[in-house]
Amino acid sequence: MSVRLRIGIDVGGSTTEAVALDGSARVVARAEQRTVRGAAGVVEGILAVIDAVAAPSGAATVGIGIPGRVSHGRVHDAVNLDISDLDLASEISARSGAVVGVENDVRAATRGIGLDRESSSLAYLNLGTGVAAGVLLDGRVNEGTRGVAGEIGHLSIDPAGPLCACGQHGCIEAFAGGGSIARRTGGGPFAVRDAFDRADDGDADSLEIVAGLARGAAAAVRTLALAVDPECIVIGGGIARLGERLRIPVLRELGRAAQGSAFLRSLRLEERVELLPPGVPIGAIGAALADHRRGALNLSAG
Ligand SMILES: [Zn+2]
Repeated sequence: MSVRLRIGIDVGGSTTEAVALDGSARVVARAEQRTVRGAAGVVEGILAVIDAVAAPSGAATVGIGIPGRVSHGRVHDAVNLDISDLDLASEISARSGAVVGVENDVRAATRGIGLDRESSSLAYLNLGTGVAAGVLLDGRVNEGTRGVAGEIGHLSIDPAGPLCACGQHGCIEAFAGGGSIARRTGGGPFAVRDAFDRADDGDADSLEIVAGLARGAAAAVRTLALAVDPECIVIGGGIARLGERLRIPVLRELGRAAQGSAFLRSLRLEERVELLPPGVPIGAIGAALADHRRGALNLSAG
């Protein structure tokens, strides 16, 4: 009897991770490898992890979560992967023979978190190189109409704040995105952790960076709570690996902002914020469970 596998892939800036799920959505295989930037490197990396998790006899569907704007199986402006425009669904489908769906990685992770928690209402705030959110309501991930649903990182909270890559000043992402923090501090891939370390030593500039990060993240939490009113707001992404070092200043900032507002206090935001535990391949699992029939339609339309 052939088992219809669902393969999910999470293409990150540093690793490409794959899972294979059986008919009960159990993980039956996992694989990962380093991401090679550029269209050719990303495609080859995806094909390699598909090979690693696919059973030879099982017909498979493949769902891919990838940063950037995604429409009709095409990826646009995945800056951190050095991809400006790639027809990813067609490429992978042609070379693997599978039905392939592609979506934004934050939305895929949102679906995965919902499955993991058996929750049908939550918001996922991704604090990574950039800042973006996904929303799960009534068990469905909101897609929007132009592929920008959840791009709350580009909500400006301070017109006098730092310049954002999008051209505005004081965006949430300009305060709380790892890429912006690295640019502003001249730091490398560990710029955020370095800023926390220096802030612990009392460095004034670093204290300001950390305070800005907490301010941006807290504004994102309030925005999601007011727009969607989810059961919980789960914070993940590279910066969330700081754990308590991140959670404490964000909760403190939420409390500070709510001091003068009985309304904000009534939302009990501190109780609704959670950090995503590291190590669970939530993005790949969510990608595997995307609606591939629509992915297939997107393919023929694209
Ligand atoms: Zn912006």
